[in-house]
Amino acid sequence: MGPSGSTCATREILKARLRADVKVYADAIGALQRHSMAALAALREDTAIALQKRYELAEHARIAYEDSRKKLDDHIATHRCA
Ligand SMILES: [Zn+2]
Repeated sequence: MGPSGSTCATREILKARLRADVKVYADAIGALQRHSMAALAALREDTAIALQKRYELAEHARIAYEDSRKKLDDHIATHRCA
């Protein structure tokens, strides 16, 4: 238990942010998978460009998710509120 007891407002905010970022990342992966199927089926350049765009969105979502994960881990490590 941390210095502020069993609940830590900052930790809860960081957790909520992480949950939201995980959902965005999962959705982006789902969209990427659906678009890769379409791209493979069509083998057209515009579909490939759309797929590349989806890939970039998923990559940004991954970076945001990992950043949120790290912020939560760092907070718990320094605040010792886990
Ligand atoms: Zn805390």
